[in-house]
Amino acid sequence: MKTYKIASIPGDGIGKEVIPEGEKILAALEKRFPQMKFDFERFDWGGDYYRKHGIMMPEDGLNHLRNKDAILFGSAGDPKIADHITLWGLRLKICQGFDQYANIRPTRILPGIQTPLRNCQPEDLNWMIVRENSEGEYSGLGGRAHQGHPIEVASDISIMTRVGVERIQRFAFAIARSRPRKKLTLITKSNAQRHAMVMWDEIACEVARDFPDVQWDKELVDAATARMINKPSSLDTIVASNLHADVLSDLAAALAGSLGIAPTGNIDPQRRYPSMFEPIHGSAFDIMGQGLANPIGTFWSIVLMLDHLGENEASKLLMQAIEGVTANPILHTRDLGGQAKMIDVSNAVIKAIHS
Ligand code: NAD
Ligand code: MN
Repeated sequence: MKTYKIASIPGDGIGKEVIPEGEKILAALEKRFPQMKFDFERFDWGGDYYRKHGIMMPEDGLNHLRNKDAILFGSAGDPKIADHITLWGLRLKICQGFDQYANIRPTRILPGIQTPLRNCQPEDLNWMIVRENSEGEYSGLGGRAHQGHPIEVASDISIMTRVGVERIQRFAFAIARSRPRKKLTLITKSNAQRHAMVMWDEIACEVARDFPDVQWDKELVDAATARMINKPSSLDTIVASNLHADVLSDLAAALAGSLGIAPTGNIDPQRRYPSMFEPIHGSAFDIMGQGLANPIGTFWSIVLMLDHLGENEASKLLMQAIEGVTANPILHTRDLGGQAKMIDVSNAVIKAIHS
């Protein structure tokens, strides 16, 4: 019998709706696989906590999470609080505090889901985007001076370290190697950014020598957007800087049908700290509190979590259950052009787990 300690942090907006559904999924899997148990602790951090305490999570919040096996996260973002406060005060505090330097974003067109791409068959789009998640453009370095005066100045400094670049590229090459096509595309911008991005390219050449069986190429980030649309099947594993991958993965999610489906994992590959799994969407102010959110992004994130925990049988069963549900248009939520409510989708996935 293996018991996993899971922290669940619903956060804000639709995070508060989809994460409890995710907990139900894990409870259903527990019944199906009696040798596996999940021990939840829920944390009410986020916008409401901020209104009471002036911070998004307690100062010693990381200590509450440190001994967990994984974290299930909803979304940080509140209509009445500035986005940089909600993001840096909660989600990034956890990602950076636990050095979850590898962010993985699988992208596929699930059965029954329409892609906005013309002439694209589901098998043409099967990507794994690997995002550098600890430095680069989102290092947090920078500042403001002369605030409110005409000479006001502001900077956000992008930094890349050799260690940081090498570890994410090694991780990406290893993922590429583990996938059938053994193909990696390095996203860069070394034409315009002539220091860090040039080092980024150089380190890739060095790392590639240890992965002779992986076929790799390089693409400028702007050209990569066009390639994703025009030649999706030419891509497989993709590695990019923090900002580049942030943008490319929202595009990827839209090309695969909806932001509401896309999952992600913030991984500490060395397993010094718990890794965190979350749908890639945000708080979705426009639909929050209405039971309309698509919970599939959360459920797919749980698949990634189960893989990370080594529960491959359970992860496979859940992915099959998800695909069985997306295949049925009656169970599509509004973001997919359907009429179904979140609870309909959730109940259907739970039913599939038990059948
Ligand atoms: P968003 O993802 O919240 O919403 C974008 C659009 O997609 C909206 O129209 C929304 O209704 C739709 N959508 C998103 N998820 C959906 C789902 N599961 N089902 C159905 N429709 C869905 O992005 P935004 O509007 O740019 O951001 C809103 C807030 O969320 C902001 O405060 C932002 O900072 C925050 N945010 C947080 C995270 C995070 O915590 N990881 C990520 C993105 C945005
Ligand atoms: Mn993003």
